[in-house]
Amino acid sequence: MKERTLAIIKPDAVKKNVIGEIIAMITKAGFSILAMRMTKLSVAQASAFYEVHKERPFYGELVDYMCSGKVVAIALEKENAIEDYRKLIGSTDPKEAAEGTVRKLYGESKSFNAVHGSDSAENGIREIGFFFAECEIVNI
Ligand code: ADP
Ligand code: MG
Repeated sequence: MKERTLAIIKPDAVKKNVIGEIIAMITKAGFSILAMRMTKLSVAQASAFYEVHKERPFYGELVDYMCSGKVVAIALEKENAIEDYRKLIGSTDPKEAAEGTVRKLYGESKSFNAVHGSDSAENGIREIGFFFAECEIVNI
């Protein structure tokens, strides 16, 4: 079944000038881009996006990081998108990520790990809605 996932190229990867390399990895892996936008998150937006983590000790650092520069939000669709995209990006901690994954190639640390990916089909839909209006999703 086709699923949707939200990718975010995080500020550390944007600063490294690897937006193109990451998008190439995503499209070569067979994902369709339904919507894409560069933006800079406010503290309020980043806090709301990561609200599930608000009790975690790293929440403040995570919000600061996500607001520290530009990000690229990308709505993706593919069969089995959630699992396949998480395989493409690798483990949260780049040190533990498999060779050839986005986080292994471009992540700095568990905090600054280059990209975001949704963790379930339900959250994929919800997170895409956080960045894109229904009329901005181009599904042809
Ligand atoms: P993932 O992004 O792989 O789904 P989580 O949802 O667990 O990982 O965490 C969200 C983000 O919070 C991570 O991508 C990373 O930027 C940051 N993070 C996660 N765990 C830690 C940690 N132990 N210390 C610092 N930052 C973390
Ligand atoms: Mg997560």
